[in-house]
Amino acid sequence: MSELPVGVLALQGDFELHEQALDRQGVGHVRVRRPGELEGVRSLIIPGGESTTMTRLIDKVGLRQPILDFAGAGKPILGTCAGLIMLATRIEEEEGLHGVRPLGLLDVVVRRNGYGTQVDSFVGDILDLDRGETAQGVFIRAPMILEVGDEVEVVATFMDKMVGVRQRSVTGLAYHPEVGTEYLSNT
Ligand code: GLN
Repeated sequence: MSELPVGVLALQGDFELHEQALDRQGVGHVRVRRPGELEGVRSLIIPGGESTTMTRLIDKVGLRQPILDFAGAGKPILGTCAGLIMLATRIEEEEGLHGVRPLGLLDVVVRRNGYGTQVDSFVGDILDLDRGETAQGVFIRAPMILEVGDEVEVVATFMDKMVGVRQRSVTGLAYHPEVGTEYLSNT
């Protein structure tokens, strides 16, 4: 039996850029927009976008519990930028002020738009600790990871700040690995 495709949560945000990145690597993928669609995928990508809107849509289509069950079954989840915010256990600002209700799958505290308004978007040299090499990371109104729990492993840093974290099968990246550095000059 052939391997199941990767699921890309396609409710909002830059899911098409993730699809293009998967295409470039020859990895099969399908869009996930409804709970039942999680049964047909081996892993899930939660893209960048707007975590307030993503919260609303995840709850509207009834994907919150299915995503929690998916993670509970040990299946891999990757969240980038707003996706990382959605995976966090806590957002620094008070709940209610921002309307984001994270899934709580990664024991981290994040600050939305933590890299400031002047430098909303930039390309930074990140250290990929898994591969032991540097790479360029595109940060777009990126969240800052403020605290991590004991079970969380740091997998990428940028200027000594944590920008990639993993807890068992759940990984969150503050930057966008799915877009090339040319992305910023084109926007
Ligand atoms: N600032 C956005 C948020 O708070 C995230 C930005 C992004 O995903 N590029 O949800």
